Amino acid sequence: MKHIVVKNTVLALCLILNHAIFAAHEVLIEAESFQEKAGWKVDQQFTHIVGSPYLLAHGLGVPVENAKTQVSFPALGDYRLWVRTKNWVPGDWQAPGRFKIMVDGKTIPTVFGTESGWKWQNGGTVAINKEKCLIEIKDLTGFEGRCDAIFFTTDKAFNPPNTIETMRDWRNRLCGIPAVPQSVGNFDLVVVGGGIAGCAACLAAQRQGLKVALIHDLPVLGGNAGSEVRVHTEGIPGRGSNILKGIDTIHWPNGAAEAIADTIKRKETMDYASGVTQFLSWRAYAANTKANRIISVDAKHIETGQTKRFQAPIFIDCTGDGWIGYWAGAEYRYGRESRDEFHESWDQYGDLWSPEKPDNRVMGASVLWNTHRVEEAAHFPQVPWAMDVAKDNLALAGEWYWEYSSDDKHQIDDAEEIRDHLFRAIYGSFYNAKRNPDNSNIQLQWVAFIAGKRESRRLMGDYIYTLKDMTEGRYFADTVAEETRNVDIHYQKNLAAGNDSKYDFLAEAIYRRTDKYYIPFRCLYSKNIDNLMMAGRCFSCSHIGLGGPRVMNTTGQMGVATGFAAAICKIHDTTPRGVYKEHLQELRTLIGYASEMNKAQND
Ligand SMILES: Cc1cc2nc3c(=O)[nH]c(=O)nc-3n(C[C@H](O)[C@H](O)[C@H](O)COP(=O)(O)OP(=O)(O)OC[C@H]3O[C@@H](n4cnc5c(N)ncnc54)[C@H](O)[C@@H]3O)c2cc1C
Repeated sequence: MKHIVVKNTVLALCLILNHAIFAAHEVLIEAESFQEKAGWKVDQQFTHIVGSPYLLAHGLGVPVENAKTQVSFPALGDYRLWVRTKNWVPGDWQAPGRFKIMVDGKTIPTVFGTESGWKWQNGGTVAINKEKCLIEIKDLTGFEGRCDAIFFTTDKAFNPPNTIETMRDWRNRLCGIPAVPQSVGNFDLVVVGGGIAGCAACLAAQRQGLKVALIHDLPVLGGNAGSEVRVHTEGIPGRGSNILKGIDTIHWPNGAAEAIADTIKRKETMDYASGVTQFLSWRAYAANTKANRIISVDAKHIETGQTKRFQAPIFIDCTGDGWIGYWAGAEYRYGRESRDEFHESWDQYGDLWSPEKPDNRVMGASVLWNTHRVEEAAHFPQVPWAMDVAKDNLALAGEWYWEYSSDDKHQIDDAEEIRDHLFRAIYGSFYNAKRNPDNSNIQLQWVAFIAGKRESRRLMGDYIYTLKDMTEGRYFADTVAEETRNVDIHYQKNLAAGNDSKYDFLAEAIYRRTDKYYIPFRCLYSKNIDNLMMAGRCFSCSHIGLGGPRVMNTTGQMGVATGFAAAICKIHDTTPRGVYKEHLQELRTLIGYASEMNKAQND
């Protein structure tokens, strides 16, 4: 019999043992649940593509320490070993992310990470002679090897499922994850995504006495400003300075380690906000709806795999990728509008700025990185698998313009490929630089493994923010945020006519000067999902409209506005649109616009 139903007592024991679950003679170990991760990173960003978070050997070219976990086997004997993994750069070279599995100190001969595409790689037969065994993942390269799960089965004919849908049920069943997540109770507000916008929304709402749940899929807060991505916050704080000063950053160079101090400051601010319950390392994966309203959001812990259901009358999507809106069926846009739709053309730059016909081009994602000088000469291995991308580029650090976007790559659906393309650009360019003897003492210091994103889905509200709103400095009756920063739109350098750049991972920015501009509240709630607001880069705007207000002090102001709006929704038992229609003055007073009630020139 293939799958024997697990008894409750066994199940409970298995859940305690870091959710390694035994269904008779089957043992599934989720790699991200390993007790000691050592040098392996939990990579949660591509769960929607891979089907699960995974462990990543992010050693910058030096093999990372073994990840270890204790596993109990239901019976002794011979098992077939399967490992779900991927050769992340297949080609005519040794796979870069190779690793091995050790069982109770014995190394299994199979080298994993050598087959293309996410799949279960067959590790052959393993004799299990002890009930309790130590399982280790042994990195061989330090170059981004990845292990999703390890599966032992006594059924040699069984092939584990590999599509996201079939795997989800199978894995949940083996791991004892219930089909319907357990409720964590009711909140006044659920905020998903703990970037600057999400943190600001929580702080504003809790100041008004709301009971807030913040769901964020990393252990640290800040989104792109956090210690994993390290982008400094730009823009003005507007009326939100009181709130934003506790979560913003100083102006260190992008990628700098000073980001860590600001991440600690942000943590202290958020921990002090007693009305906010933080669910860190929880990744939302579904929004449950009824008649154009979100009833609840489901989230999964990125290490334990446990699930929870969050209920509230109001939800704010601060995921950047507009996930909550997407799952709830909110209207959204992806890509560039035609230059005529909102009269956003700029003749001087033609198609680089805006296209004649709508297309799927967006600004790209970046992986920031840097190096340092060390006392001894530092070896860096050959990276033949990186050179197709890096070519002869030579570099010792990567700033914001190390950015990748391609018309045939989707920033969400192809996000892992995009991040990996940037890894190849970095390791290949650094290898080229290391060939110069002057750089023999230079070593990679830090390379992000979380990609910083700029643009993907934009959820549509009652108003779509566009270039003209910025260049004309329109002041709206429902102004809730303001900015002075120039509009900038990025394009891949190699797309510019006459530009002979052979590197596809470098971008350039086109800047358009503006004076002060204002953002209306109607851009911050969904057009068709009644109880959904959005703050951050997924707010309601055109592609060019994102060019100014995507920086994090502005998105923070959006967060403040939506957090206060949630409080007004509660007081008056209304929706965000109800706030716009009936309680605008109250909202603007809370934000700090009380003295400007009559300033509206438009609308
Ligand atoms: C390299 C680079 C340089 C930049 N330079 C600047 C700059 O100098 N200054 C500036 O202010 N801005 C800069 N920007 C732009 C700015 O960082 C982004 O526009 C901004 O981060 C958007 O904020 P956000 O809150 O919408 O998204 P994010 O900052 O991405 O935060 C969203 C968070 O939500 C989490 N999340 C996503 N999905 C889920 C889910 N399903 N469940 C739970 N959590 C989830 C993500 O992990 C993420 O941490 C730069 C961007 C890049 C990439």
